[in-house]
Amino acid sequence: MCTYSDYALMCICGEYVLMCICGEYIDASSDRKLTYKALSNCIKRFAAVLLQVGLEKGDVVATIMPNNIDYPVIYYSVVLIGGIFQPLSPLYTADQLVSMMKECNTTYVIADEEAFKKIKYFRDEIRLKIITYRHLKSGCPSFESLLDGEEKVSKPVEVDLQITPAVFLCSSGTSGLPKAVRLSHFNVLACIHQMKKVTRKVKRGDVAVLFIPLYHMFGLHCALSSELALGMTIVMMSKFTLDEYYTLIQTHKASFIHIVPPVAVMIGNSPLLDKYDLSSVRHVMCGAAALKEVVERKLKERLHLDRVYQGYGMTEIGVSHANTDSFYKMGSCGKALRGVQVKIEDPKTKVILRSNVRGEICIKGPQVMLGYLGRPDANREIFDKEGWLHTGDVGYVDEDGFLFVIDRLKEIIKYKGNQVPPAYLEDILLKHPGVKDAAVIGIPDALAGELPKAFIVRNDGINIVDEQQIYDFVEDRVPPYMKLRGGVEFIREIPKNPTGKILRRKLREFPIRDENDN
Ligand code: AMP
Repeated sequence: MCTYSDYALMCICGEYVLMCICGEYIDASSDRKLTYKALSNCIKRFAAVLLQVGLEKGDVVATIMPNNIDYPVIYYSVVLIGGIFQPLSPLYTADQLVSMMKECNTTYVIADEEAFKKIKYFRDEIRLKIITYRHLKSGCPSFESLLDGEEKVSKPVEVDLQITPAVFLCSSGTSGLPKAVRLSHFNVLACIHQMKKVTRKVKRGDVAVLFIPLYHMFGLHCALSSELALGMTIVMMSKFTLDEYYTLIQTHKASFIHIVPPVAVMIGNSPLLDKYDLSSVRHVMCGAAALKEVVERKLKERLHLDRVYQGYGMTEIGVSHANTDSFYKMGSCGKALRGVQVKIEDPKTKVILRSNVRGEICIKGPQVMLGYLGRPDANREIFDKEGWLHTGDVGYVDEDGFLFVIDRLKEIIKYKGNQVPPAYLEDILLKHPGVKDAAVIGIPDALAGELPKAFIVRNDGINIVDEQQIYDFVEDRVPPYMKLRGGVEFIREIPKNPTGKILRRKLREFPIRDENDN
């Protein structure tokens, strides 16, 4: 038995897979470098630090910071000694961060200056030990000083790979508020192995430029860990701008890039692209939301490529499907990756559907999560009795086994690949004294995918709310990607079924009765 970090270390030390390729991490803004060999040593040293400050097997360690080259040091050292890594979005508000840390019983948090300001008032309430990152004036120990002062190295702690959680990620899944997705060491290892099969054409010196956030499954296992395992150099961006992205690809002659559909749209329409030489790019992997065929076509044309490798996944199931070097079909999300089983089920009758017929996509596989933490109801809702995970997505598998995703049954909204849970926004809206009832849906947008739009029933007698007030009220309380960019509309009544469930499809059927209609 070993942790999957052993495996990562084996890759890093060049004892596994691609012995001849020795990559490194490069910080895009500072050009600071960390070779995979040095990374291996840092991981073992920081693991020793964590043990010294009191971390015990099963303790949860959160990070709140943008992408940086120390992220993998923290990640692999936590799992190396049997801790659970919980990467949190630095875009989250203080309330969201604290609620996720309470939910997971988080003991340690490694936070940059921005994050420290958000959480410092809560540290006693949730008994949190804070380690700061690149911020020395807080009075808390800092990551840099702890790592610099440590001479000892730590060995991996033995765990049962199948049942021991290694990572907690946040996802609201098919409904409700964000929950902690429990991923075992085995789940993460499986995901890395599956992603490695997507491309076999890695060569010595291949470079990837990575802006996908490492607190998201796509960034953490699919880009960071699989590229590390392949021995690629990874140039890490903490913030995305198209200009800098092009510059980095050109300077480092990057051959591999991971993108999300809004970035595909931006590149496809970008006049700036002509000023750069991106001819080094050989492999583009796109995920996290639907990539429209017209966007895919344009992207291929602009980058002079035959293929864009679209994948399909979800925090709870890792990546289940992807186009690969061997199997590719335009517009599809590819075939099931190794070890993945898929069934398409009629959501009403529960009958398994044949090829080319649309239904709910259900997945089984070694990378599928253990379940949500402390949420038996949510687990019963997402897993059926036979262990299939119901994704809440609608699609079909064609006669050759390629998956096409076409719609969503679930309520989650995706704005530029970020999850916007309607239930979260509705909770906030209901706190406004002028709001009697509220519902939020996603409306289609060519660049962002979807924009959150609120339908509001005004509170009788309180004649204060207008669209701007509602917009501002929400803006003050949510991360920037959750703003009500799709607008605010006032109606007489939110359509609901007899059990009180919001009928979101009805809200999409425009026009609906406005509050002034009789
Ligand atoms: P997340 O858990 O944030 O990764 O979100 C997962 C959801 O994103 C899926 O359940 C889908 O609704 C959507 N998604 C991811 N990849 C694709 C894709 N290739 N095509 C369509 N939707 C996708």
